Amino acid sequence: MDCIKIVELEIYANHGLLKEENVLGQKFLVSADLYLDTRKAGKSDEMELSVNYCDVCKLIDSYVKENTHNLIETLSENIAEKILCNYPLVEKVDIEVKKPWAPIGLPLKYVSVNISRSRHTAYISIGSNMGDKEKTIKAAVEELSKDPLITVCKQSELIVTKPYGYEDQDDFLNGALEIKTLYTPEELLEKLHEVEAKFGRVREIHWGPRTLDLDIIMYDCVVMSGEHLTIPHTDMQNREFVLKPLAEIGEYVVHPVFKKTVGQLLSELYTRNKEVSM
Ligand code: ATP
Ligand code: CA
Ligand code: CA
Repeated sequence: MDCIKIVELEIYANHGLLKEENVLGQKFLVSADLYLDTRKAGKSDEMELSVNYCDVCKLIDSYVKENTHNLIETLSENIAEKILCNYPLVEKVDIEVKKPWAPIGLPLKYVSVNISRSRHTAYISIGSNMGDKEKTIKAAVEELSKDPLITVCKQSELIVTKPYGYEDQDDFLNGALEIKTLYTPEELLEKLHEVEAKFGRVREIHWGPRTLDLDIIMYDCVVMSGEHLTIPHTDMQNREFVLKPLAEIGEYVVHPVFKKTVGQLLSELYTRNKEVSM
C-alpha cells in the first residue's frame, strides 16, 4: 500500500520511569509511516483526498508534549491510536519512538519501540428476544458507534426468526453489522460483553432468552480457537438467522476456513434444509 513517511520528528518531552525524566524531560524522535491509498489524491492533486502530514506532525507533537507516560510503549500505542482515530483514510500506521538520551548510565545510540497498528473489519451478529427487541438492538448499535475505536459501516435489516437450540421461548429479531475497529478480537469480545451487560443480558440457559446477544462472526481473515473465543463463529454456516442478514451486507465476504462466500454458505444451507424437509 502507498505510504507517507514522517521521519524522526524531534520533540522535547517528559516520558520515562524515572522521576527526573518526568521533571527534566529529554529528546524523543518519533517516526510514523502512514499507509493509505494515495491514488485519487495523486490523480486529482486535491489535499482532501490524502492526509496532511503537517497536521499529523502537529498532532504527534502536541500529544507527546502534553502527556507524560512511564513507557515509550504506551506513548507509541497512543500516538498510533490518535492517528487512526483522526484520519479515517489511514488503514495502518507504523510508529517508532526513539529515546536517544535514555538515562541508563551506559553509552548507547538510542533505544526505541516499534509498533504496527491497523484497522480491522469485523462482522457482528446481533439478536434479541426479550423486551422491546428493536429498541434494544438500535440502542446497542448506537452504543457501539459511540466507541471511538469502532465505526459501524453497514447494518442489515432486522429479521424475525424462530428460536434456535432451545425452542420454548419468544421469536428472535436478528441482524448483522459490518464494523471497522482498532480492537483486537479479545478486546472486541470484551466490548460486546460490556454492551450486552448494559442492556441487561444475564446468562442463564445456554441458547435461552436474552435481551441482547452480540457475536463476532468474522474478523479480517483471522482463524482462531481459544477457550473464550472462536473465530469465525463455529456454527455460522448452519444458521440462517446469521447468514441471511450477513449476506445482505457482505454477500461476497469469504469464510477463511471454508473458502466460500457468505452467499454460497447461505444457498448451501437452504439446499441442506430442503433435503431434510423432503
Ligand atoms: P452461540 O455462541 O452458540 O451463539 P450464545 O451466543 O447463546 O451461543 P453466549 O452465552 O452468548 O452463547 O456466549 C458464551 C461464550 O461464547 C461467550 O462468553 C464467549 O466467551 C464465547 N465465544 C466464543 N466464540 C465467540 C464468538 N465468536 N463471539 C462471541 N462469543 C464467543
Ligand atoms: Ca449467539
Ligand atoms: Ca453470544
